[in-house]
Amino acid sequence: MNRQWNDLTISDELHEECGVFGAYDLEGGDIANWVYYGLFALQHRGQESCGIAVSEHRDIRYYKDMGLVNEVFTAENLNRLHGDIAIGHVRYSTAGSSVRANAQPLVTKYIKGTLAIAHNGNLVNAVDLREKLERSGAIFQTTIDSEVIAYLVARERVGSRSVEEAVGKAMQHIRGAYSLLVMSPRKLTCARDPYGFKPLCIGKKDSVYVVASETCALDAVGAEFIRDVLPGEIVTITADGLQSNTQYCNKKPARCIFEYIYFARPDSVIDGAVVFDARIAAGKILAQTHPVEADLVVGVPESGNVAAMGFSLASGIPYGQAFVKNNYIGRTFIKPGQSLREQSVRIKLNVLKSVVEGKRIVMIDDSIVRGTTSARIVQMLKNAGAKEVHVRISSPPFKFPCYFGTDIPSGDQLIANHHSVDGICELLGADSLGYLDVNRLGEMVGGLDYCDACFTGNYPVDPPKRDIRGDFES
Ligand code: SF4
Repeated sequence: MNRQWNDLTISDELHEECGVFGAYDLEGGDIANWVYYGLFALQHRGQESCGIAVSEHRDIRYYKDMGLVNEVFTAENLNRLHGDIAIGHVRYSTAGSSVRANAQPLVTKYIKGTLAIAHNGNLVNAVDLREKLERSGAIFQTTIDSEVIAYLVARERVGSRSVEEAVGKAMQHIRGAYSLLVMSPRKLTCARDPYGFKPLCIGKKDSVYVVASETCALDAVGAEFIRDVLPGEIVTITADGLQSNTQYCNKKPARCIFEYIYFARPDSVIDGAVVFDARIAAGKILAQTHPVEADLVVGVPESGNVAAMGFSLASGIPYGQAFVKNNYIGRTFIKPGQSLREQSVRIKLNVLKSVVEGKRIVMIDDSIVRGTTSARIVQMLKNAGAKEVHVRISSPPFKFPCYFGTDIPSGDQLIANHHSVDGICELLGADSLGYLDVNRLGEMVGGLDYCDACFTGNYPVDPPKRDIRGDFES
């Protein structure tokens, strides 16, 4: 893969790299529509491609393409997807000729039939596994690590009594992050890696079981939350209901803390911790640890908004809206030329001049990657007449790349590896800068175990010996 960093508008905006949704109607009704609505609610997890696969009798059909859910699916192509079991996927990917082929679900035909797979996360040993498999004659159609999982599940299925047994055997080979849906003609098998990096939850409405990356997608289809899939658990949904296998739940979980800071929707609940509450807590901690005299607290949309409310609650400084965001920039947006580059943040974000003029502003954002965007936003506030801009970041400084499915770039591209906090503050043109204390991250999630490797370098799973993030996508 040639990862092309999105330099279009907010050049150091981070991306989640996938969302999954599955549904099984025990009474045999068509279910593709449910997956459509579920994916729609998960659109924030991936905007470049999406797809739905359905199982009708013993046949698996699918439709996938580049684009947003409402661009790819029409009433016509959705109506052609009949079946009572379905899985879907939304994906963030990169530009390039092969990306369409990399859209998911992946549908694999093998000697025992057909499997469809949807995967959120990144494996750290995908390159090694793939090389080994290729040396033994395997042929791959895509450049995504999910195909390695599909291949392993299909291979293990040949000598297993069931798909879930094959998934368990495949889990013994793969390392890294995966929340996985595997659809076989009469079963929906769901698995979460033993660290639980990525979320996965189960809900039910009437005769329909649903499985989703986030609870906001359960809400979208009116399903009631049943429970999260445990880190390391395999849950199988059949006509007889749910079955659980917890034999691989033997690791200390390492949930991605950045789900709570940025990725997940604030109306989602992951492993019992409410994302909205986590962001409020981050804002409150920032107000305690980096207090400042100011007139107004504002958030950089979207994830900065909730943390800004938390800051306001703890500091007593009024909360306001300073930015208007254009949410309609699609995949085909034409990148501005160099002459417009400096204006490019404005295409996505504009300042409400009347709100900030003459005021001392506390601006809360979720992270700083390279610093270019934050500098432009600070400048926009100052140009609009803000007297002072105090930047508060609801995460610690990024110092290390992520190998588990977040596109945090390599360490040399991260501003915090080259400058002190004061130096960054100066580069941003801010009046002060404060980050969330890395030792207080746990307070956001009420004592859950979490991964903070992009801040600390303490990887729960050994990272690959070389940076494979250019070779595989999730
Ligand atoms: S390294 Fe950071 S972004 Fe990656 S899983 Fe860990 S906390 Fe999440």
